[in-house]
Amino acid sequence: MARFSAVFSQGKVLALLALLLAAGCDGGVRGVSDARLRGTAAEPGNWLTHGGDYGEQRHSALRQIDAGNISDLGLAWFFDTGTKRGLEATPIVVDGVIYTTGSWSVVYALDARSGELLWRHDPQVPRRYGGWACCDVVNRGVAVYRDRVYVGTLDGRLLALNAQSGEPIFDVVTVDQSVPYTITMAPRIVKGMVIIGNGGAEFGVRGYVSAYDAITGELRWRFYTVPGNPAEPAEHPELERAAKTWSGGEWWKMGGGGTVWDSLAYDPELDLLYVGTGNGSPWSRHVRSPGGGDNLFLCSILALRPETGELVWHYQTTPGDNWDFTSTQHMILADFKIGGAARKVLMQAPKNGFFYVLDRATGELISAEPYVEVSWAKGVDKKTGRPIEVEGLDYRDEIVVVQPSPYGGHNWQPMSYDPQSGLVFIPAHEIAYAFRLDPKWEFRPGAWNLGYDPTIADEFPRDAVSGHLLAWDPVAQKEVWRAQYTGPWNGGVLSTAGGLVFQGTAHGTFAAYRAADGELLWEVSAGTGIVAAPVTYEVDGQQFVAVMAGWGGAFPLTAGDAALAAGVTDNSGRLLVFALGGKAQLPEQKAQHAQMLAALPANFDAETVLRGNHTFHRWCTSCHGVGAVGGGLLPDLRRSQPGVLDSLEAIVLQGSLLGAGMPRFDEWLGAKDVNDLRAYLLTRRAALAVQEAAAR
Ligand code: CA
Repeated sequence: MARFSAVFSQGKVLALLALLLAAGCDGGVRGVSDARLRGTAAEPGNWLTHGGDYGEQRHSALRQIDAGNISDLGLAWFFDTGTKRGLEATPIVVDGVIYTTGSWSVVYALDARSGELLWRHDPQVPRRYGGWACCDVVNRGVAVYRDRVYVGTLDGRLLALNAQSGEPIFDVVTVDQSVPYTITMAPRIVKGMVIIGNGGAEFGVRGYVSAYDAITGELRWRFYTVPGNPAEPAEHPELERAAKTWSGGEWWKMGGGGTVWDSLAYDPELDLLYVGTGNGSPWSRHVRSPGGGDNLFLCSILALRPETGELVWHYQTTPGDNWDFTSTQHMILADFKIGGAARKVLMQAPKNGFFYVLDRATGELISAEPYVEVSWAKGVDKKTGRPIEVEGLDYRDEIVVVQPSPYGGHNWQPMSYDPQSGLVFIPAHEIAYAFRLDPKWEFRPGAWNLGYDPTIADEFPRDAVSGHLLAWDPVAQKEVWRAQYTGPWNGGVLSTAGGLVFQGTAHGTFAAYRAADGELLWEVSAGTGIVAAPVTYEVDGQQFVAVMAGWGGAFPLTAGDAALAAGVTDNSGRLLVFALGGKAQLPEQKAQHAQMLAALPANFDAETVLRGNHTFHRWCTSCHGVGAVGGGLLPDLRRSQPGVLDSLEAIVLQGSLLGAGMPRFDEWLGAKDVNDLRAYLLTRRAALAVQEAAAR
């Protein structure tokens, strides 16, 4: 004892303890410590981090609800957000409190037993950012660390809020707010840092991921995913290597893309942070990098050292991306045997249609096989790890149809991995897409900047569109079962040790399947289409299943009648929470009927209409649909009241509907553009009126 005292004076011991507490190594940290984040398996009653654990498996050990009693599962309570835009958040559940987000990055804290609102924080996102959100004014949830709640906002800020009160602690701008960056992803916490990326590659931005000190909000490091202007020094050494894979164009003036807009995972043992990167900006490589090249690090999985942001390895799923194929889709870390050998794998089903199993220590490709119809590549070469591209589908003058589409074989809707059955459950889509290069295309700051020709909007193959829940064996790389839906864009997935797989659907239901064979065990009306992923938690010995219900995202905004066919009639955004014996009822829905369209004069010269078509597809299409065909979420502009079209100038140039979320465009457009837009919309309206009359 004397010796101990000699080495460690009381003061030194206290200092050491304080150091341990500050490092989050001790359970005594208030709220969610680093130790709790690493040890989520020890407390399945909570849902502490976005994917349920650092490996983002989205599988819960809770088993109170199972196939034997699920018929007794009912709505325990619901919370109305009062919004009608998409809801994509994964709720975080900590010690009886749910933290979730809604449209426009609003944060809610609710009592997990009753749904009572504890606090609400509205970060007051300027509504003009709605015009720069490619895929709805959504948010995919918060991170909770210590006694703070972190959220990324649509206008590019990172906020730390007091978990007890919702009061802001810091508010850091993470982007250049004068260019079209948005944040919709959930932040993740790794070693006392908040990791956050951003989106905007459809408009023209340069992708990056940042780490901020969780306590002070100071920037610790930033990793750019694509090189900047070659005339200037590279921000970090990895970019010198990346720059050699771009050639011939001036991509840095158009952003380049590679945005980190959703997927992150972390392996504490290997100490690697995994980052998924997005598509090229603009989409067409003939415009972006006409001299060819892989365009690193587009459409890649990056393994970074979390302390420094240094790159350890990368794997590019689509070299020289040309079709909005992103690798921002959900990544799952798991350990299992392949060919008798224990492997530490990373699994991803990116947009390009192949299911990848990588060695997550080295980035080596273990296997890749198509999980949906794939037309752009014949397969993935096992030796090189590169896709074998089919010639002629990189679109120039001719229209080509490609599968999967920019909506992906699977998009951001999270998968789950069930270690018991060994299956990955994928919210999969089958959607084809038509492309043609626009010979007159030029980059316009702040606009929709894809590079392809919008006048082929009607070529969108709307009838070849479907979706299903796919149970996939990642070792054998083959389908085990599927639940077929009529429409795509169904919800994210949760699996549980009760042998269940939960998924919300585009057609407004919430369902549970038997994990082993896909038998539909339970299905209830959700009042609206669901895209978010469910979570499960336990309070006072009772298991709950919670899901954000609110149809939204890229597909319903842009895919027009293909989205309408999913049958969404009311989009009241809610958090739905289910438990055994739940008896709550949703309010009755008002049926909505589209009124027969009254014809309006539409005699415009073809040139004006064509100009309007181009203007529409640069500035309006990301919210109001390809070909101005509404998908049910926002007004179908072809059905506008005549008064709306008369006031188009006030709406578009003066922001008269800004409060409702309609941005103003006077920075870029003038009265002549609005006239062109009106001519285009009235022409589209006339075509629809003819269609409807013929169908009568
Ligand atoms: Ca994209």
